[in-house]
Amino acid sequence: MPHFLSRDAASFWLSGQWMTETIGGSDVGATETIAKQDADGQWRLHGRKWFSSAVVGEAALALARPEGATDGPAALALFYVETMDGRQRRPELVIDRLKDKLGTHELPTAEIHLDGLPAWPLGELAHGVRQVAPMLNITRTWNTVCAVASMARALSLARDYATRRQAFGRPLIEQPLHARTLADMQAEFEGAFALAFEVAHLLGRVEHGTAAAHEAALLRLLTPLAKLWTGKLAVKLCSEALECFGGAGYIEDTGLPQLLRDAQVYALWEGTTNVLSLDSLRALGGGQLTALRTAIGHWLGGADGRSAGAMLAALDAAETWLDHHAAHRESLEAGARGFALTLARCCAAALLARQAGWSAQRGDPRPTAALRRFIDHGLDRLVSPEIDDTALLLG
Ligand SMILES: Cc1cc2nc3c(=O)[nH]c(=O)nc-3n(C[C@H](O)[C@H](O)[C@H](O)COP(=O)(O)OP(=O)(O)OC[C@H]3O[C@@H](n4cnc5c(N)ncnc54)[C@H](O)[C@@H]3O)c2cc1C
Repeated sequence: MPHFLSRDAASFWLSGQWMTETIGGSDVGATETIAKQDADGQWRLHGRKWFSSAVVGEAALALARPEGATDGPAALALFYVETMDGRQRRPELVIDRLKDKLGTHELPTAEIHLDGLPAWPLGELAHGVRQVAPMLNITRTWNTVCAVASMARALSLARDYATRRQAFGRPLIEQPLHARTLADMQAEFEGAFALAFEVAHLLGRVEHGTAAAHEAALLRLLTPLAKLWTGKLAVKLCSEALECFGGAGYIEDTGLPQLLRDAQVYALWEGTTNVLSLDSLRALGGGQLTALRTAIGHWLGGADGRSAGAMLAALDAAETWLDHHAAHRESLEAGARGFALTLARCCAAALLARQAGWSAQRGDPRPTAALRRFIDHGLDRLVSPEIDDTALLLG
């Protein structure tokens, strides 16, 4: 524990997570890595992990199936492993190759195989996916915060450039359409920022045991919603920011293309957009929608009538959609992304309203403008899952 709690570079340890395998990525229940126990009781892992970032780390949490256990996700167990023996990498951990990635080049991601690596079970020898969930809450929140950070950087570069670059006789920032484009991005960013840090705040309260029951339920729902929405938004915003630089945005030595390359990963790792949309549906089992309604009702106190009406209308539409499709698994899944995005946007709008109310009392009208613009972009992303059309289109 001291290594994981340390903030001292000389003593802290980095931990990876080894879940994804060639056949079992999103479908982690297909994990093939086996945990075998020696005669002396030591567990050892045997198998191949297809994506392992932080491969230079000193430890990892790994999913594996105890020898003789049944198929499926419930039988998987969670293990703690250490990768180093002093200054040497343990011989039972073999790095097969480093991935040649689109982005995140500072972070080596490897394919590895485990040839009897010593391991220690965490908790019971089953339900490893459930046991790794608290870690996923943290890494998904981290993903959300980083997605927002990438947006902030892209936006601040684009805004700065707009004050320097002249076109058609004036700086870009004075061209009405360019200014509108930047302001649109700013409003979306502020919504994402508000949701990201509400999730971080809730996570803190839950971890410190100070959260109310409805806040724990809310965190379970907002974590995947925030991750999936901000991951997609970061790609969109970084792409738009590159375009704000014109041709220069496409040229490597400006450093800008890296923003877009790195942003693409936010939608992929820690669960893809679709996989987290389905997870959001699963998260609705324990009164989460009621908790969400209560929270939104509380947050939107500072909203004007039109904004509050738009939020409540989108939330009602989402609930009606859910009621309508709840009994039809295929259409429920087909529309899960639209449903999740609608909930995420409603939450972000309500949080912007909270900020707008607070700032207006202090004479700052800016957050109200962010709220108005965000709502103008629409909250409702619900789709009618026409299964037949999908089949026709893919036929
Ligand atoms: C740079 C990088 C670093 C990574 N580092 C790690 C790491 O350190 N540790 C680790 O364990 N993993 C890591 N990963 C793996 C990552 O988490 C997985 O790639 C990701 O979860 C998706 O799994 P998959 O690749 O098997 O894709 P698949 O599961 O095959 O998904 C392919 C597509 O199908 C969609 N899909 C899958 N199932 C469904 C469904 N039921 N309904 C609708 N759509 C569906 C997905 O959304 C996706 O679009 C890393 C990935 C990258 C890119």
